[in-house]
Amino acid sequence: MKINPVRGTHDLYGQQVLKYKTIQDLINDYSNVYNFEEIITPIFESTELFKKPLGENSDVVLKEMYTFKDKNEDSITLRPEYTTPMIRAAISNNLLNKLPKKLYGIGQMFRRERPQKGRYRQFNQINFEILGTHDVSADIELIILANNFLKKLLPTKKIDLFINSLGDKNTLSRFNIALKKYFEKNKEKLSKDSQNKINTNPVRILDSKDPIDTEINTKAPKICDFYSSEANEKFIKVQEILKNMSVDFSINPNLVRGLDYYCHTVFEFKTSDLGSQDTLIGGGRYDGLTKLLGGPDIPGVGWAGGIERLMMLMDDIKSLEKKIHLIINNESFREYGLKIANQLRNADINIYFDYKYNLKKSLAYANQLGSEYAIIIGDEEFQNNICTLKNLNKNVQEKKSIENIIKDLSK
Ligand code: AMP
Repeated sequence: MKINPVRGTHDLYGQQVLKYKTIQDLINDYSNVYNFEEIITPIFESTELFKKPLGENSDVVLKEMYTFKDKNEDSITLRPEYTTPMIRAAISNNLLNKLPKKLYGIGQMFRRERPQKGRYRQFNQINFEILGTHDVSADIELIILANNFLKKLLPTKKIDLFINSLGDKNTLSRFNIALKKYFEKNKEKLSKDSQNKINTNPVRILDSKDPIDTEINTKAPKICDFYSSEANEKFIKVQEILKNMSVDFSINPNLVRGLDYYCHTVFEFKTSDLGSQDTLIGGGRYDGLTKLLGGPDIPGVGWAGGIERLMMLMDDIKSLEKKIHLIINNESFREYGLKIANQLRNADINIYFDYKYNLKKSLAYANQLGSEYAIIIGDEEFQNNICTLKNLNKNVQEKKSIENIIKDLSK
């Protein structure tokens, strides 16, 4: 019986694991210098955690959540995003008594979207969140962190930063009313999918990738005409500081982000190398979210990046580790071989044990694996308590004590 992976899921192995780990290590380094604390939360949560905060009419809640009843009829959802679980965890564990709180997390998310290149039903995300400040410095710090991380990870790739402001809660509700009116007037010219959103979530029509909607969207009311003076000042400040810090960006007035909880600064880092799934990192402010989740009334700002999309842009990684193959020429030297392997591994030297007990087969296998050295144990080596160290690239070999082999290989 052959069981295939579930549609939209994928396994990571070989190069993909090397790339995943490179991203993870880099993120851990950045979190350290930017002083963020890691948080690891469960993969599933109560469904109510997501329903209201993400918006009852958002695509994620309506179509994409993996929700099920467990045996005692509790409604459980596999987390579709990490911001709400991280805030839930901060509230549950009383982490919000010293503010601001800077948290980051790396882990799997689940969305039942239509699978395509760069879009999966289980994928991995990096999340950075700052809770407890209205200061635009937090928005800037997060944008700069993302910008520096992307430049370090993908130095040769062209990645563009787009920013916008969604104003305050008042801005968005007034903007939604104006948009509804405008789209209602132009309903016939919109795609079916967008027509369905006019009453429930008109702001999401601006995000449509359907070319039918492009013209209507271009002429739609602009959110900047609905800012309060405070929201406007905030947005201008963000732009000024980014310019002064030489961070390139463009303003995209139609950038609204997918989830309902955003306000003020929103941003996306995009690439033109991945086709339609082109957003690498997206984020913004969510000032009412912590209160909505039952916590204190504190603001927040953060971003999420997709690890699979980043991996797709990375060049292959060469492992720098020397590979060393242990060759035991006869099963009767097995125990001697295991002891030698143990000594080498205790000296932090990696050893591949192949259980073949046959010089010819083992050498062929060592070559197949691209090993640099072989340590060979035959009759003579066993009797004299030594080993042969063979450099497989240079095809030279020498008999040595295990202590000398450790010295040579540790260089
Ligand atoms: P979002 O929470 O939708 O803003 O997503 C944040 C980032 O996660 C996106 O910019 C993508 O890089 C990544 N992402 C979102 N959905 C998927 C998916 N279905 N498959 C792979 N990556 C995704």
